[in-house]
Amino acid sequence: MDHWQPDFATDGVRVAAWPTYIQLLKTSSVQNHSETYLDGNAFAAKALAKAGIEYMFGVVGIPVTSFATCALKEGIRFIAFHNEQSAGYAAGAAAYLTGKPGVLLTVSGPGCVHGLAGLSNAMINTWPVILISGSSTQTDTGKGDFQELDQVEAVKPFSKYSGKARNIFEIPLVISKAITFAVHGRPGGTYVDLPTDVLHETISVTEGEKLLSDLQPYVPSWSKVETSVGQQLPNLEIDAAVSLLQEAERPLIVLGKGAAYARAEDPIRQLVQLTGIPFLPTPMGKGIIPDTHQRSAVAARSLALKESDVVLVVGARLNWLLHYGAHPNWSKDVKFILIDISSEEIALRKPAIGLVGDARRLVSQINKKIKDTPFSLGDKHPWVEKLQKKTEDNVKRMAASLNKDVVPFNFLTPMRIIRDAMADLGLPAPILVSEGANTMDVGRSVLQQIEPRTRLDAGTWGTMGVGLGYAIAAAVVSPERLVVAVEGDSGFGFSGLEVETIVRYKLPVIVIVFNNDGIYGGDRRSPEDIEGPLKDFPAPTSFVPCARYDIVMEAFGGKGYFATTPQELQSAVKEAFALRQPALINIRIDPYAGSESGRMQHKN
Ligand code: ADP
Ligand code: MG
Repeated sequence: MDHWQPDFATDGVRVAAWPTYIQLLKTSSVQNHSETYLDGNAFAAKALAKAGIEYMFGVVGIPVTSFATCALKEGIRFIAFHNEQSAGYAAGAAAYLTGKPGVLLTVSGPGCVHGLAGLSNAMINTWPVILISGSSTQTDTGKGDFQELDQVEAVKPFSKYSGKARNIFEIPLVISKAITFAVHGRPGGTYVDLPTDVLHETISVTEGEKLLSDLQPYVPSWSKVETSVGQQLPNLEIDAAVSLLQEAERPLIVLGKGAAYARAEDPIRQLVQLTGIPFLPTPMGKGIIPDTHQRSAVAARSLALKESDVVLVVGARLNWLLHYGAHPNWSKDVKFILIDISSEEIALRKPAIGLVGDARRLVSQINKKIKDTPFSLGDKHPWVEKLQKKTEDNVKRMAASLNKDVVPFNFLTPMRIIRDAMADLGLPAPILVSEGANTMDVGRSVLQQIEPRTRLDAGTWGTMGVGLGYAIAAAVVSPERLVVAVEGDSGFGFSGLEVETIVRYKLPVIVIVFNNDGIYGGDRRSPEDIEGPLKDFPAPTSFVPCARYDIVMEAFGGKGYFATTPQELQSAVKEAFALRQPALINIRIDPYAGSESGRMQHKN
């Protein structure tokens, strides 16, 4: 077996002596008739199952159809999509929600390229996703084989690791390496290339079991006993962070999706409880502490950023979503304490104090220190009062427009109806999927999260088209929760046919489409732009007016609703939420109600 040991130094690099190598493989595949044999598809599926993978998302075809069938036999729920792009988004959401690597399976060439959408989105969101693609027969590579592409190279810019199993024996090690790189350090994307010839090679069950014996099921750190989780940071750094927070006049805690991924909600809730420091979640950090908590500064966001003097940021990058941590959105001399698993991230941002490590563990260490030297900002603390006052003013102002019934619908009226229906569901809270321009912007301020990881949106990249993939993954991995996907009509259109997937797997997903006839809604051009030889051509932003997306859902046997008034919408959401069956509510929105939104979207 020695000569079969993979040389990972050559990952992704063509091995010079292929013919000799392939010849060796062929001789090794001579079967002994008294033994049972597995082919590469069955062996790879066994390897994934042994590594603790429970879900896989993808689109099958040559050469991986049998892989998906074998995965089902191993107890891995393979969810078959129409489009690899959606399946890839699903793998990302599954990773974020379960803390385990999400797996995306595609065919070669174009399938792999479509899969890059999901892989890169996961990479940017720092979620662990493994793309597994079939590829051309190695001896035919370079001749123009069916769906041929140098996939290992193509995936590299979007991944932390990109490797090929060059023979059946390398499969467990390549899978093991892909998992390790995906979940450790800052989580991200990895790639496993399985050539057609490797999927057709065979290995004896005995030899296969030997090779799989090193694979252990992956267990996220938060589900292990606390004391065994990684290295503790030296107390000095924790002490310095606590002193800075204690001395602050206007402290703030910012919570990002890295904290949600790390399952840091218990220590974070305790930290706010102990210190009374106001907190501000990023869009997907919403719910780590309930939006309804007294110390939530969500409705006073601009003030909180501008005036805070010491800010503890847990699992969030100081990127565009947080205005780079810079003036004028933040105060000139604000001091940041950053908690992040990535030391590069911390080095890049040059905070006053950087704590590298797992958010759940580090916040627990901070709490321990605070218990030794307790301090707390009471309700009468000037900073708390100031934020509270601003929150009340903003909520009151918002309520004035929110509580009006505007027909034809603007964005606020239907969003309020959805908010109330979601709140009525109680616990476990539904998982909200949110995408679109105005739909996502308005939804972020109106819809409330009370539990962690119950909001999935366009994320760090502002990726549109993620909605149905996220919703399907959320329903598959969280069967106890209802999933409500509040989608702009353009966001929905990216992957609208995945409603069939929702029906096929009988998922409790309610898709709600804010239908305003297009991107931002209808034809937004000024009269002077509607000129020239193509003046009667459809506008770049507009779709077929008043499209009946509800009938698309009904075509597959799901339930469709069309709502144009508050009464129609109220009865549709009430019925759909109670039935918990695949449904699509098509809400007619005034095409001119929204605005063209963009980077302004995260400001108050
Ligand atoms: P948001 O979009 O909510 O602002 P970001 O995606 O920008 O959040 O940031 C998430 C951060 O969380 C990343 O910098 C990532 O390195 C970090 N992170 C991921 N896992 C952990 C963990 N277990 N502990 C601490 N930080 C983590
Ligand atoms: Mg629209």
